[in-house]
Amino acid sequence: MSEEKLNLLGYSLQSLEAFFEQIGEPKFRAKQLIKWVHQKGVLDFDKMSDFNKQLRLKLKSLALLLPPKIEEIHTSPEGTIKYLIKLDSGSMVEMVRIPEKKRMTLCISSQAGCALQCTFCATGAQGFDKNLTADEIIGQLWLANFNSKDQPLITNVVFMGMGEPLLNFVPVIESAKIMKEQLAYGLSRKRITISTSGITPQIDQLSSEVDVSLAISLHAPTNKLRDEIVPINKKYPISELINSCNKYLAFYNGKRSITIEYVLIDGVNDSEELAKKLAKLLSKVSCKINLIPFNPFDGSNYKRSNNKNIEVFKKILMNKGFITTLRVTRGDAVDGACGQLVGKLAKSVKGKKLISHQLIP
Ligand code: SAH
Ligand code: SF4
Repeated sequence: MSEEKLNLLGYSLQSLEAFFEQIGEPKFRAKQLIKWVHQKGVLDFDKMSDFNKQLRLKLKSLALLLPPKIEEIHTSPEGTIKYLIKLDSGSMVEMVRIPEKKRMTLCISSQAGCALQCTFCATGAQGFDKNLTADEIIGQLWLANFNSKDQPLITNVVFMGMGEPLLNFVPVIESAKIMKEQLAYGLSRKRITISTSGITPQIDQLSSEVDVSLAISLHAPTNKLRDEIVPINKKYPISELINSCNKYLAFYNGKRSITIEYVLIDGVNDSEELAKKLAKLLSKVSCKINLIPFNPFDGSNYKRSNNKNIEVFKKILMNKGFITTLRVTRGDAVDGACGQLVGKLAKSVKGKKLISHQLIP
C-alpha cells in the first residue's frame, strides 16, 4: 500500500544517504537518486538506468516518488501563473510563478491554511488545515520545473504562499536543503527566501540549520497596532523580534541583510507618523524594506493605501537611508496574495470540492 511506503521526493541528500545505509546499500546511491529526481525530473525507478534490477525492485517495494497534483492553472495576461495544488489529503494550496526580467520566481506554500489570523490575509481567514510534508513542499518546485511544459526553470523560491513556514520547521528546512543541493536544484542562499510573521524561537534556530535569506512580515512599528493586525505579536512582541533579527545578522558577522515586509493598508498602518516610527525602530537593523500595497479579497473590509500615501511613506523611509522597494501589483486577481484562490473555493469540506463559478473574473 502506497501509504506505508516512504516518499523519497522530500528527502535531502543527507536523509537519502541514511535511507540507503539503512537498507544495506552504498551511500553513493543517494547522489544518483537525487540527480534523477531533482535534476532530470525522473520519478520512475525503472527509468534510473544506473540502478540494477534488484535495486529497482527493492526501492519499489519500500518507497515511492510522488509529487502533489496540479488541480487548476490560472494565467494572467502579464504572465503570472497561479497553480492550485491538491494534496493527498484533499487539501488545497497555492503556488505562483512570477516572471521577472532576469528571474523566474516561485512562491510556494508551507501549510494548508494558517493559524495566525493576520487580519489582512486571505489564508489567515481560512484557519489552519494542515502542515505540508517535505515532499509536498519540494513537490511544488518539482512540479513547476518538470510538470509545466514550455515554462522556463525556476531561479528563485520564496516561502510566501500559504502558511507560516517557521511553524512547520523541519519539513521547510528539509525542502530548503534540497533546493540548495548542487545535485538537485542548486539554488544559492540568495535565491531562497523564508518569510515569517516573527516566530522568534525558530528564527533563532534557522541559521544553524540552513543558510537562506530571511524576510520578516512586520507590518506595524508599535506593539499596539501589531497586536491587532499580526496577532502572533502578542506572543512574540516587537522587541523580541528585533532581537532575533539582530542575532540572525550577528551569526553572519553583519554581512547579511534582512527584508522587512510591510503591507500598506489604507488608514490602518500607512500614516507618516508610523513611517517615522518604523524608520526609528529599524535604524540599527541591517535591512531593506519592501512595501506591499494591500491586496483586497472577498470578506475583507480593508482597502489598499492610496498612491499618494504610499509615495509619502516610501519617501520618509528612503530619506532615512533605507533601501525601500514597492511591490508592483499587476492589478489582476491571479496576482493576488496567496490564499485568495483557495479562499474562493467552496467553503466546502476543506476545499475538497471546487465550486463552479469562475475563480478569475
Ligand atoms: N506566513 C508568512 C509567509 C506567508 S505570507 C508571513 O506572514 O510572512 C507572505 C506575505 O504576504 C507576508 O508578508 C504577508 O503579510 C503578505 N500578505 C498576506 N496577505 C496579503 C494581502 N492581502 N495583501 C498583500 N500582502 C499580503
Ligand atoms: Fe499566516 Fe502569513 Fe497570512 Fe499571517 S500573513 S495569516 S502568518 S500566512
